[in-house]
Amino acid sequence: MGCCDVPGLMTVETALNNIMTQVSPLTTITTVALADAMGMVLAEDILSPINVPPFANSAMDGYALRAADLEHTNTLTMVGKSFAGIPFTGTCEAGQCVRIMTGAEIPVGADVVIMQEETQVEGDNIQFNIKPKANDNIRPIGDDVHCGETVLVKGTRLTAREMPLLASLGIATFAVYRRPKVAFFSTGDELRPVGETLAAGQIYDSNRYGIKALLEKFGCDVLDLGIIPDCPEKLRQALLTASTDADVVITSGGVSVGEADYTKDILDQEGQIGFWKIAMKPGKPFAFGTINNAWFCGLPGNPVSAMLTLYQLVQPMLAKLAGHSQYQPPVRLQAKATSMFKKRPGRTDFQRGIYSINCDGQFEVATTGNQGSGAFSSMHHANCFVVLEQDRGRVEAGELVTIEMFNHTMY
Ligand code: AMP
Ligand code: MG
Repeated sequence: MGCCDVPGLMTVETALNNIMTQVSPLTTITTVALADAMGMVLAEDILSPINVPPFANSAMDGYALRAADLEHTNTLTMVGKSFAGIPFTGTCEAGQCVRIMTGAEIPVGADVVIMQEETQVEGDNIQFNIKPKANDNIRPIGDDVHCGETVLVKGTRLTAREMPLLASLGIATFAVYRRPKVAFFSTGDELRPVGETLAAGQIYDSNRYGIKALLEKFGCDVLDLGIIPDCPEKLRQALLTASTDADVVITSGGVSVGEADYTKDILDQEGQIGFWKIAMKPGKPFAFGTINNAWFCGLPGNPVSAMLTLYQLVQPMLAKLAGHSQYQPPVRLQAKATSMFKKRPGRTDFQRGIYSINCDGQFEVATTGNQGSGAFSSMHHANCFVVLEQDRGRVEAGELVTIEMFNHTMY
């Protein structure tokens, strides 16, 4: 057993469950214009005020006519044209046809469209090469959405799959929940911002860039409070400032038991925080609770640990806070290991892997190599997590393992 494999660690499931049972959705509702709604969560059901399409229209460029006419002739007289946006205003009588374009309204009287490739044109006499069935190539009124139908339910997060749907209903504004406001900062005397030269013992602060990227992609309003040194008073001030303004305060570093890890003392005084040792690797030390009216998430300092805990534990919580009732955890499936995965029993590993599909259509996964909790290039090379169960030991090539696809925040 190594130093980290001590008994009594909290399982990932218990940690997540603890978080999720404490948090409830934000209740502030605002009205938003469709153009500004991407990534927001609906605070109302959306019922369609119209049929989509609003009128029967042609799925092809061709001719609209009465299907029964072609049972006794193959030539009809063209009497007009129907364009998208400029309908034919007359009636298509027996023996007649109307030139029609894709999306144009079906003329009164016509019950079928024949595509132009099936015709020969001689002036206004159109000869048809096929015998159609009524309704061929016609998109009926309400084919996509019926007037009054519930199209989207409260709690839906709006993405590229919903935005055009709302636009097709002509809905310009609607009620959404306020985006969660998240303030974050890095802690550590050794940290320098990019653009500065490193002195002895210093490293660049990389965590804030990962935290910001994941939060913004998740649809949060973010407030970056920079780097706070390991100084109790500055830390206290930063925590109090962050918590007056935000729904969630996220820090990285200083939540383990090092001599310069002051966060615990301050939070014990200013908030209600649990300092957990979670049976996950990377990412053992993690703090969760409240400070003022904000939720507090203290991520470990090591860069892979910080990203992983944010991704696995904080994102589901943010989804609940945002009112996103249809949030789905990332997809997991089985894959055949094509390399060995070093692992000791005791914690659930979230190793970084590269999956592919072999010529038999089966998922395979290889390690990205160095799995150190500070080795961030493993995240760049990966396209999935390899989730190795708590009790499992070393995995040999050929064994089946669980892989977890990255969600949209990683892309
Ligand atoms: P800590 O949790 O503060 O003990 O930090 C654990 C490790 O993560 C140490 O090696 C830190 O230097 C490193 N670390 C902490 N914060 C950051 C950061 N923002 N960016 C990069 N590395 C960090
Ligand atoms: Mg530190």
